[in-house]
Amino acid sequence: MKKLFLTILAIICFYYGYCYLKTLYVIKSETPPAIKPVEQTILPEKKEPAPKNNNFENINFDKQVAVNRSIINEKFPGNYIDRSLKSGELVRWNPSTFPLHVYVEDNPELPEYFNITVKKAFSEWQKVSDNFITFSFTEDEDYADIKCFFPADYRSENDGQRMISGVTNFQFDNDKLKYAAINFASYDMDNKFRTKDALYSTALHEIGHALGIAGHSVNKEDIMFPVTQHGKAKISQNDISTLKLIYSIVPDKTNKNYSQYDKNKYITTEDVLGNYDTRLDIELEAVKADVNADKNSYFAGKYFNMGNIYYKKKDFQNAIKNYEKGLSLTSGEKDIEAVNMNIAICYNELKNYDKALEHVQISNNIKNTTEKSAFIANLYYQKGEFEKAKNLSLKILSAHPDNYNSYITLYHIYKEENNDVEIYKLYEQGMKYFPDNPPIRINIK
Ligand SMILES: [Zn+2]
Repeated sequence: MKKLFLTILAIICFYYGYCYLKTLYVIKSETPPAIKPVEQTILPEKKEPAPKNNNFENINFDKQVAVNRSIINEKFPGNYIDRSLKSGELVRWNPSTFPLHVYVEDNPELPEYFNITVKKAFSEWQKVSDNFITFSFTEDEDYADIKCFFPADYRSENDGQRMISGVTNFQFDNDKLKYAAINFASYDMDNKFRTKDALYSTALHEIGHALGIAGHSVNKEDIMFPVTQHGKAKISQNDISTLKLIYSIVPDKTNKNYSQYDKNKYITTEDVLGNYDTRLDIELEAVKADVNADKNSYFAGKYFNMGNIYYKKKDFQNAIKNYEKGLSLTSGEKDIEAVNMNIAICYNELKNYDKALEHVQISNNIKNTTEKSAFIANLYYQKGEFEKAKNLSLKILSAHPDNYNSYITLYHIYKEENNDVEIYKLYEQGMKYFPDNPPIRINIK
């Protein structure tokens, strides 16, 4: 019989594109917090520092990649391609699907300028890209590639340190980009609706993320600088350079896949940013720099992001460390559910089944899923608690006979018991539900 391996679904959540309102340090309290506007702080005028280098030169690039990078940087001056990766990958749209369909929520309870201002920001990106990127507005949310919302409960998503002005997330279906969702904060810190200028600058920034610029520039004149510059928001030459470069490289993930012909003909992420491991290192440097640049913002999402990169690098100890650090900074239930699952997966990799069980149970108590139950059953098995593992697996299979992992856990237990009769029954049931890819295969002599 073939040795069977359990396929644990890596439910790694991706946090990115969180952007702050300027000047906000909010401490959670019963009474409204006192906010000290920066404008009233008198500080000696500082000399404008020299522009920072957005790209990393200290990474060990392959010789050919290093040559490619210097050519690219000459052709696309000021680009911050090193800050544009998401889990080591470049994600952007395929221009053959343009115009991108954009939905902007039209909520009668919000000021009329909300909808108009966000649409204006889309038009601005279209304009600065010389109509390379085109948008078409739709009223049909389901049909849209980019969906913009003004959720009412947005404030609860802040991390207790600062208000977040916008968040962009990509949704995938089997590695295929489905849509980007942008959530905008509706209120400023004083509980008033966000102003036209503030919303416009956040919208420009979030649309940059939705177009594929995953990370943040370190230069504050760029629209992709993480802190919103109210009143003087403008897409810079660096931003345009980065956008053009991103759309000159064959992406790792997109909404309409590129052919092998395209991949051979055009430059790929591997040509400019190195292999997957190198790209993870680049992204790690970028996220670390993001954290160091703004030590006052103890923002959970940055640590989750770092945890995800360490996970991808198979450095599970550091992944756990960053997940735990992020969790200490948030009380969001969704975060606690998802990140504890990630921690459990890491402990499982480290073969620390007690800790894995502890964390998957925290996640499961918030939201129970069949996959989590199957994971728990397998952890019982790993811990040698065969009876518990068997009972739970049987319970799962009686309700969900299509749960692949439960077959595998049960198989291992029956193997321990030398119970060939049950193994054969399990094999038959597995064949019925997974004829193309049976969980158990038997060589019948
Ligand atoms: Zn951002």
